[in-house]
Amino acid sequence: MSLQLCVLASGSSGNCTYVGSEKTHILIDAGLSGKATTERLVDVGVDPESIHAICLTHEHDDHKASLHVLHRRYGVSLYSNSGTIEALSRNPKLNTLPWNVFTTGQPFTIGDLVLEPFRVPHDSYDPVGFVVSCGEVRVGVATDMGMATELIRQRLRNCGALVLESNHDETMLRESSRPWALKQRISGRQGHLSNEKAGSLIAEVAGDTLRTVFLAHLSRDCNTPDLAMRTVQQVLGREGCSHIDVKMTHASRASEITIVE
Ligand SMILES: [Zn+2]
Ligand SMILES: [Zn+2]
Repeated sequence: MSLQLCVLASGSSGNCTYVGSEKTHILIDAGLSGKATTERLVDVGVDPESIHAICLTHEHDDHKASLHVLHRRYGVSLYSNSGTIEALSRNPKLNTLPWNVFTTGQPFTIGDLVLEPFRVPHDSYDPVGFVVSCGEVRVGVATDMGMATELIRQRLRNCGALVLESNHDETMLRESSRPWALKQRISGRQGHLSNEKAGSLIAEVAGDTLRTVFLAHLSRDCNTPDLAMRTVQQVLGREGCSHIDVKMTHASRASEITIVE
């Protein structure tokens, strides 16, 4: 058993992650346009017609932009919890979509994949992260969270690969010209995870199984790929986890594909 993992896009302009077994292909979030999603899937060798489902983490624009387009164009099934569906139902384009409703905390299956949605602290209706597994192989996807809770640490243990938020450098955010209230929101318990906190979380959940981590949802103004990479690798080195392969994700192109075994 193995899973293919590729972050098609990441950042405040759009988030979309592909996870596929041999039989079942899904997207976590659909924050790119339909056209860009199609192009990037083709770029990484995945047939867009083969996507079975989109599983939505929460209702923010950078995660849901092409839900209806991908559903209409490719007949993709849509999965979300009732809180997020309620938030989306205010948008007339989205309130008639045929949802498959999952309950946060309860695993569900799509083909040969098992998805475990777990609660993350973020300023939306009912935000979740996911662990996707196929047999013993586990991949965790968690972005948009203000802090690493004990529940998040529990769920992300024993994964072979993670897509994890490394949103901002704490100093760059503090010294940025952003309004005080926005800085508070981003760094608060329901905001976004800093590079330093991402590094600590990775080290805490690494165990014997974790091989690869994609750093995701980087802030354009308060982070740089080099700084995120350096900070996370410093924390991992300090904690005895320098064997973990840390990879970058991008707003403008897909990451490399990793095969998780
Ligand atoms: Zn986001
Ligand atoms: Zn968000």
